[in-house]
Amino acid sequence: MGKNGYNNHMPKNQTDLTQKCRQILIDHNIPVTRPRIVLLEILLQNKGPLKVEDVIKLSEGKLAISSLYRIINMLRDLNLISEFQTPDNTKVIELSNIKNEHHHHIFCKSCGAVDDFELNDDLEKNLEKEIQVIESSHHISVLSHSLELLSLCNECKR
Ligand SMILES: [Zn+2]
Ligand SMILES: [Zn+2]
Repeated sequence: MGKNGYNNHMPKNQTDLTQKCRQILIDHNIPVTRPRIVLLEILLQNKGPLKVEDVIKLSEGKLAISSLYRIINMLRDLNLISEFQTPDNTKVIELSNIKNEHHHHIFCKSCGAVDDFELNDDLEKNLEKEIQVIESSHHISVLSHSLELLSLCNECKR
C-alpha cells in the first residue's frame, strides 16, 4: 500500500459497513469470506427484505447464484437470516439477529416488491391472545404467526 493508500479514498461508511459485517461473522464463529461479507453488506445496506434475484443484481457480479444459496442456507441455519416466500413463491431473505423485532410483510401483487411493517403492541397482544384461544380449540401448539398484506405499491397503483 503506497503513501496514498487506496483505502484512504474509500468512503468511511463503506469501511465501517465491511467491518460490521466482518464482526457479525466473527461473533457467530463463521469463517470470514468475501462472498459472506458481500451478502451481509447488501442485507445491511438495504435494511428491508430482499428477493434472491435482487441480491444477485445488487452484488454486481460478486456473488454467484450457487454460492449465494449455500451461504443463505448456512446463515439461515445459524438464525442469522430468515427466509420466507412471497405469495408467488419467490424466496425472500432478511437479517434476523440484527433486526430481530417481530414484524410482518407487505407484498405488491403487481411488481412483487416486499416491505416490512409492524403492528401496534396492543394489536400484537390481542393477536397472541386470540392465538391461545385457537390453540386450545384446535388442540395445537402455534409456533409463530405471520400476517401478509397483499397490496398495490405506490408505483403500481398509479
Ligand atoms: Zn409494485
Ligand atoms: Zn405479529
